[in-house]
Amino acid sequence: MSSSGEPSRKRPFIETDKASTILCTVVAMDYKNLFYRVCSVCERTLPDNPDTCCRYCNFANSFNPTTSGSKRLFRLLVSIATDTKILVVIMFDRAARVLFGCSADDFFHFAKTHPYASTTASKALEGEMLTVTLSKPKNGNAQHLRVVSVIPMRTDFQPAIHTLRELYPP
Ligand SMILES: [Zn+2]
Repeated sequence: MSSSGEPSRKRPFIETDKASTILCTVVAMDYKNLFYRVCSVCERTLPDNPDTCCRYCNFANSFNPTTSGSKRLFRLLVSIATDTKILVVIMFDRAARVLFGCSADDFFHFAKTHPYASTTASKALEGEMLTVTLSKPKNGNAQHLRVVSVIPMRTDFQPAIHTLRELYPP
């Protein structure tokens, strides 16, 4: 393309603290761990055990403990290829919803009746070209760059849940 000889593509975008926007392709995703549970009232993270209630909101709901529910949010690891490397990034709910086209709870309930939904969704998204904005995790111990926004590049991109509903009609 440009013959200016400027080696800008070698710029190590991970070294900066600013968010950086890159073009990449989805290589794979960890479809076995797509969600985490949070309290439906305060959105604090809950343990994976479905019987545990939020210990903060449970007091407020002690007259009727069953109303303190939980919901799922997306949190998944995605392997992406840029023009120079392959890296694993973490995608939280807002970004993942763009790719899945539904809430994590909706996807979970769909997957309950369609056991291969997660695998199929992952396969459907593989090879998808995306513009992603990556930011360094605020927590210095977190090991993966975080995807703060996703824009699918294909004009006829369709979220995974649409592909699934076509494959598994009701
Ligand atoms: Zn709570």
